Amino acid sequence: MSFERIKEKLNILADAAKYDVSCASSGSNRTNKNKGLGNSTGMGICHSYTEDGRCVSLLKILMTNYCIYDCAYCVTRKSNDIKRAAFKIQEVVDLTINFYRRNYIEGLFLSSGIFKNADYTMERLVAVAKKLREEENFNGYIHLKSIPGASDELMREAGLYADRLSVNIEVPTVSGLKLLAPDKNYEDFTKPMLKVKNEIIQYKAEKKIIKSTPKYAPAGQSTQMIIGATGESDKDIMYSATHYYKNYHMKRVYYSGYVPVAEDKRLPAIGSQVPLLRENRLYQTDWLLRFYGFHVKEILNADFPNLDMDVDPKLGWALRNMHHFPVDVNRADRAMLARIPGIGMQSVHKIINARKFRKLNWEHLKNIGIALNRAKYFMVCDSSKWENRDLEPDRIKGLILQNSSGKFRKEYSNQLQLFS
Ligand code: SF4
Repeated sequence: MSFERIKEKLNILADAAKYDVSCASSGSNRTNKNKGLGNSTGMGICHSYTEDGRCVSLLKILMTNYCIYDCAYCVTRKSNDIKRAAFKIQEVVDLTINFYRRNYIEGLFLSSGIFKNADYTMERLVAVAKKLREEENFNGYIHLKSIPGASDELMREAGLYADRLSVNIEVPTVSGLKLLAPDKNYEDFTKPMLKVKNEIIQYKAEKKIIKSTPKYAPAGQSTQMIIGATGESDKDIMYSATHYYKNYHMKRVYYSGYVPVAEDKRLPAIGSQVPLLRENRLYQTDWLLRFYGFHVKEILNADFPNLDMDVDPKLGWALRNMHHFPVDVNRADRAMLARIPGIGMQSVHKIINARKFRKLNWEHLKNIGIALNRAKYFMVCDSSKWENRDLEPDRIKGLILQNSSGKFRKEYSNQLQLFS
């Protein structure tokens, strides 16, 4: 195979892979054995970000962009008239090793269109990872996509070579999936997820007893949802994400604003704006649910099915629940401190440590690094004044937006004028 042909395949198959954002590499710690190649970078180094904020791996490719399916939202769908290509197993292995040796990459993110059927495709992905580990002694990071419908045996094998596995659910609801990908079954996604979850639990338990038990997908599993392709509310999306975190032990759920790639009356028209701000607000909500002790129904419910695009979801929640405020930072527990807008979890730890020695005032809080320009409306401390005690939530929101320098602020200039 000529170098030119490999380059052409790489162009086609790296371009087709760019729509998948589920490629962060945090959480794995595979150490170099037998003087092999590479160390897993751990802690999220093995990814980078494109201009529009998407996470990409330096070798992020599809095995092929041929596909037997016709999912409406996908550029690779069989009815799309595009240039097709397919790598051989050895070509992906050689590319990974060559790029690694040149320091271009720290790992491999390998996905695929579906060749003949799920198992045939999954077998090829597993074969690449197996060759890298066993023949090339490669200890870098490997993220394999699990092909929906792949057999339990292949999923078990995949987890022995890959650091992370993921099945992209893509459409957040079963009804949306039926509409846009009628050939696919919901169970084709959930079955491999369940298998991976159970294998992770089992291998971890065995490792406690038998130290030589190999690691199984040490960086866990993740999934991705496309946002804005169908009419789901933010509530639908976050309830769905919560379901996957809880029932399949997802390490991460990724939210990817839909990039229109097809003329299809079921989908937003080509040229429609990618909902990047919505994507950002969903990530913020996800963070609140995983690290700040919020329950999804506190942020999204029948009364508030969609997130406020003007302000982040924690500030939005606080403005709707002013009866919880002001919070006394010298007395409040950890959970309540974490709910004050402008105070992150690191600051919560610092406040709890610092107040063992003294009562905290504005100056102390400023030194701790709290964003007082927003926190001041929701807290009291050892300083006499809380100037804005009687302000209405809308007025507080206006004042905060007025003084905000966030990258999306310009979109609200009209609203801000109302408060000036
Ligand atoms: S099965 Fe995957 S690659 Fe094929 S059309 Fe559907 S989303 Fe695209």
